[in-house]
Amino acid sequence: MKLLRDVLADADSRGVAIGHFNISEFAALKGIFSGARALNLPVIIGVSEGEREFIGIRQVAALIKSLREEYDYPIFLNADHTHSLEKAKEAAEAGFDEVLFDGSSLSFEENIAQTKEVVRVIRSINPNIVIEGEIGYIGTSSEIIDKRPDNIALSTPEEAVRFVQETDIDVLAPAVGNMHGLLQTMIAGTEQKRLDIERIKAIKAACGKYMTLHGGSGTAREDFAAAVKAGMTIVHVSSELRLAWRGGVEAGLKNNSNEIAPYKILPPAIEAIQKIVEDRLKLFNGLE
Ligand SMILES: [Zn+2]
Repeated sequence: MKLLRDVLADADSRGVAIGHFNISEFAALKGIFSGARALNLPVIIGVSEGEREFIGIRQVAALIKSLREEYDYPIFLNADHTHSLEKAKEAAEAGFDEVLFDGSSLSFEENIAQTKEVVRVIRSINPNIVIEGEIGYIGTSSEIIDKRPDNIALSTPEEAVRFVQETDIDVLAPAVGNMHGLLQTMIAGTEQKRLDIERIKAIKAACGKYMTLHGGSGTAREDFAAAVKAGMTIVHVSSELRLAWRGGVEAGLKNNSNEIAPYKILPPAIEAIQKIVEDRLKLFNGLE
């Protein structure tokens, strides 16, 4: 079975990106896995601290492992936005393929110091684990928000080089115009996120690392494609799936008000998620 680092190397060499989708429960996982399998593309499942606490750290690791083994499929698990060494260790010990240590709310110096320590400890638990670090600031959560956070801070190539050299991370998450969450205008379709493609190219050229685009939901299609070409190797999509999940659950409940079997209520949510995942994966892999 391939390791995540092999799949990253392959995607980077071909100028495509691996889709990363978050889950809180099993219906979303079903939708994402069906979408990835329909296209036969590798996929990363993300669980933030809240999401993994809800499912259970060892339980989510067991679910992903069971799919990987039963279908002999490149499906991987990331401890998305991990804020402490303790939580990073928990994920590594549970068998996660990737840990994102997010020290982006700390001072730059403190972010370097803590990320470096996480890299040292986590690699001693699993030398094959992929470790991502984050610089700049793009807001915090995958929610519907009223306005852009006013303290968004874009990353520079100089910062990126210093950060990767001092921490020895495998993957860098820079701030390049992306943002966590969705604005009401993005849901209404009157506004889209726009990315700083030149900045992505400059950071990639300077640091030479794999890079992750966070907060992908609501991004203009041409910017997604250009960002992948410019050097993004992983693209995160979460808010869009949460929105689709809610719409699907509401539709499932409305379809038959007497229905109480969850497995008969949830299919519209699973289908809505699968549709988005297929669309995004095609876009990230130049298949359209
Ligand atoms: Zn993120």
